[in-house]
Amino acid sequence: MTDVPDPSDLVDPGAYGRDAVQHAVLRPDPDPAPPNQDLMCEVCQREPAVGVASSSMAAMSLAYGRTCLDRNADATFILAGNFYSIGPDPNDYADWIWDFTTFVDGEYITARDFFDRVTKEPGFFDPPPEDAP
Ligand SMILES: [Zn+2]
Repeated sequence: MTDVPDPSDLVDPGAYGRDAVQHAVLRPDPDPAPPNQDLMCEVCQREPAVGVASSSMAAMSLAYGRTCLDRNADATFILAGNFYSIGPDPNDYADWIWDFTTFVDGEYITARDFFDRVTKEPGFFDPPPEDAP
């Protein structure tokens, strides 16, 4: 019979967002199943996912691999969607968004580097064609 965890063990009062989820849900499984090779990490697209969790920045769940969780990485489209919605002034963002990384062109880069890269692309903040006047 499997031990039922004490609920107080599932809460880390110092954690928030995905850190809290990792503490509660993604702690080592004492009897791990082999990784599901069909479920790939949706951040880097190159490692098996260890599970599906809510993004810390969007009302959306994604499959995350261990490396991306450890690097606090989220998908480029999640970050870009926030940048598009919030706008071009980095002072308009909550400080914690800059704690994230993402995976671009084979490497992890900071959320701020990704912001500087994509928001300088011509037309990044243009409305989508269906919303254009
Ligand atoms: Zn990954």
